[in-house]
Amino acid sequence: MKKIIVIGGGASGMMAAITAARHGAAVTILEHKERIGKKILMTGNGKCNLSNLSFSNDNYYTDTPELLEEVFAEFSEKDTISFFEGLGLLIKNKNGYLYPMSEQASSVLDLLRFEINRRKIQVVTECEVQKINQKQSNKELFEVITNKGTYLSQAVILACGSKASPQSGSDGSGYAFAKQLGHHIVKPLPALVQLRCQETYFKAVAGVRCEANVRLMVDGKFQKEEAGELQLTEYGISGIPVFQLSRIAAKALDTKKKVLAEIDLMPKFSTEEIENFLTKSNENTNKSLQEAMLGIMNKKLLFLMFKINDVKANDLWSTYRSTQAGLHRIRKMIETIKCWQVTVMATNPYANAQVCCGGVDGKELTGKLESKKINGLFFAGEIIDVDGICGGYNLQWAWSSGYVAGKSAARD
Ligand SMILES: Cc1cc2nc3c(=O)[nH]c(=O)nc-3n(C[C@H](O)[C@H](O)[C@H](O)COP(=O)(O)OP(=O)(O)OC[C@H]3O[C@@H](n4cnc5c(N)ncnc54)[C@H](O)[C@@H]3O)c2cc1C
Repeated sequence: MKKIIVIGGGASGMMAAITAARHGAAVTILEHKERIGKKILMTGNGKCNLSNLSFSNDNYYTDTPELLEEVFAEFSEKDTISFFEGLGLLIKNKNGYLYPMSEQASSVLDLLRFEINRRKIQVVTECEVQKINQKQSNKELFEVITNKGTYLSQAVILACGSKASPQSGSDGSGYAFAKQLGHHIVKPLPALVQLRCQETYFKAVAGVRCEANVRLMVDGKFQKEEAGELQLTEYGISGIPVFQLSRIAAKALDTKKKVLAEIDLMPKFSTEEIENFLTKSNENTNKSLQEAMLGIMNKKLLFLMFKINDVKANDLWSTYRSTQAGLHRIRKMIETIKCWQVTVMATNPYANAQVCCGGVDGKELTGKLESKKINGLFFAGEIIDVDGICGGYNLQWAWSSGYVAGKSAARD
């Protein structure tokens, strides 16, 4: 029986181990935390968004799209559904986003753990890998030295994750092993993460959530626009549209570029529509500006718009409407509502990030996820320089790459 060691018992490591065992290998998982699969429990707010039916390779960032194509051609989102249904998981489809029917991430983890037991995969927890040595003998290519003894194997699958959310175990140590074995690491940076802004007024709007469009500008150039629920925090901006843009911001900030987010707080209305509505609903009234405008948006945000434009909330709407200068101020305020510019200074740290961009350079891997430098060394999951957008795509990468690495390692 071919002996395979999987380092890292996360989503990709478990998938790699199960697949290798199903293909006849004797598999050992070495996991440095006290239990396997900790991060899975955190996914999808505890519900585990395990894949997505709107699957496309375009939902990923990588410098090696051909690697993605090969991996997903071998194990797609449909294979994920069959795999988990085969384990006994009922899957819920929420507008294409796939979750366990129980809406409990623990269902996914439990079924993976049961299969690991059924396949007699050895799991060694609290196991600190200290070194991976290549052996000369053909029988055992690798010697993995740990605090719990030395393990010999004919293949090693590195599935240690990235640096994102290190509290779940992925502390970046996998990159060090890959580097030690001669691999180039594309600089890791936090992605799918909140953005910290320069403006000091965020405390006043912390906790507000609203539908918005967010455009990311780097050195004055438009990069990408995302729509969805914006969340404001005391240090800046969060929510799905911000997460989706965060890896572009992280890369730009890392090269000292100027990053701005332009936020449209009323994406369903044009500037003219907002002005016309306000003019019509406040005609011949004696309302203050706040009375006139309170009905169109969140109160805390409206007051922030007043503050940014140096407008007094208790001034009369009619006074502003009746002078050119006043009219100009109102228009400026509506422009701010449609294009509120904030300066992005940093991403939140790895502890807050759902994934990392960067990792083991895909150019140094075959389509079977084997190292082009070292026979018998395979990679799976987020340790590779592939990151997806929100929506189940990162777990799909973990399942697909885990499957391909596990199968290839067992067969080679
Ligand atoms: C809060 C949060 C929510 C998320 N929600 C979703 C979601 O809903 N849908 C989605 O698709 N993606 C989601 N993700 C991303 C997704 O969880 C990851 O992309 C995926 O789990 C990566 O799998 P992995 O196996 O590559 O790495 P990990 O799951 O990080 O597993 C790596 C494992 O290796 C172990 N390890 C690391 N170094 C060593 C070492 N030196 N020795 C031994 N063991 C080691 C770690 O302890 C860990 O168990 C979320 C992430 C977070 C943090």
